[in-house]
Amino acid sequence: MKAAQTIAPGKVEIRDFPMPVIGPGQILVRMLSVGICASDVQVFHGKHKYASFPLVQGHEGIGVVVDTGSGVKHVAVGDHVNIQQQFACGTCYACRKGRHNVCFSLKGIGILADGLFAEYFASPEWNVITLPEGFENDKGMLAEPASVGVNSAMVAEMRRGERAVVIGAGIIGNFTAQACLAMGAADVLIADIADAKLKIAERNGIPHCLNTGGVELADAISQAFKGEVPDVIFDCAGSPATIHAAISAAANASRVVIVANFKEAVTFEIPSFQRREIALLSVMGTVKESTLEAVDLLHGGKMRIDGIISRRYPLDKILDAYQYVDDNPSTVMKVAIDIARE
Ligand SMILES: [Zn+2]
Ligand SMILES: [Zn+2]
Repeated sequence: MKAAQTIAPGKVEIRDFPMPVIGPGQILVRMLSVGICASDVQVFHGKHKYASFPLVQGHEGIGVVVDTGSGVKHVAVGDHVNIQQQFACGTCYACRKGRHNVCFSLKGIGILADGLFAEYFASPEWNVITLPEGFENDKGMLAEPASVGVNSAMVAEMRRGERAVVIGAGIIGNFTAQACLAMGAADVLIADIADAKLKIAERNGIPHCLNTGGVELADAISQAFKGEVPDVIFDCAGSPATIHAAISAAANASRVVIVANFKEAVTFEIPSFQRREIALLSVMGTVKESTLEAVDLLHGGKMRIDGIISRRYPLDKILDAYQYVDDNPSTVMKVAIDIARE
């Protein structure tokens, strides 16, 4: 079978690999589509702390089951599945609390173990989610980033009637804003400096989509919410400027949630933060429960994917796909690698 193997920073080759052999409890998946994630780009450029080469990248994928090992009970040949990113131990402190996304010995697929930019992938049965009958393939591929949005809203403990602000209208910001609405938020504002991304947020039903370049975030919020304060502010952009904006715009007794992956250290005024009793929370990717919820919300139309896929490339053009992502930071949402058709 063919797979795209990153052999050095910025270098990827389509190579022949032996067909994966499945053992008991495992399934063989023929990959259909796999998305390129911001973390894939980081790995690709050799800027990810833990990844090393050679590596088959990719962790946001949908495929169809073509074989099952002995003892597989809940997945059958022909099922469409979304593959979960993390191989977790299942027994450590974090796993016992249901937070396998921060397992003490976590192995992220496509980062610490070979991933999904391949024609076939062998997975333990427990690591996949069976998608409902008739579920759109693109939604199946996007279930992972959508679930990061759901997981962010879950970690924030969004309650019905609350107001949320999301900084960053990229794919994770977009899905976080949609998840808040789906979970009953009374009002949501999404802020960015890229108009193209704000337009896509608008198409997906976010009530306030604001270009906050040159505007104080707190002023923009107060105008949009007619003087009401936000209960939660999510930082889905991940820069010193955005977390500072989030903290200074946060109301006394409210929550700030770090969703984006920060690449550098940030310092901020603890006294002003503490005096206002702001809760600072953080999210690292997603958990299976949030993916199941995201699949439900996508299936029921409560989360949408209008304009989310910016471009598609076949597997052998994956280098062009990475180039396209690099060249278009202010417009690109998700780039899909189409591996096989049904
Ligand atoms: Zn991802
Ligand atoms: Zn664990």
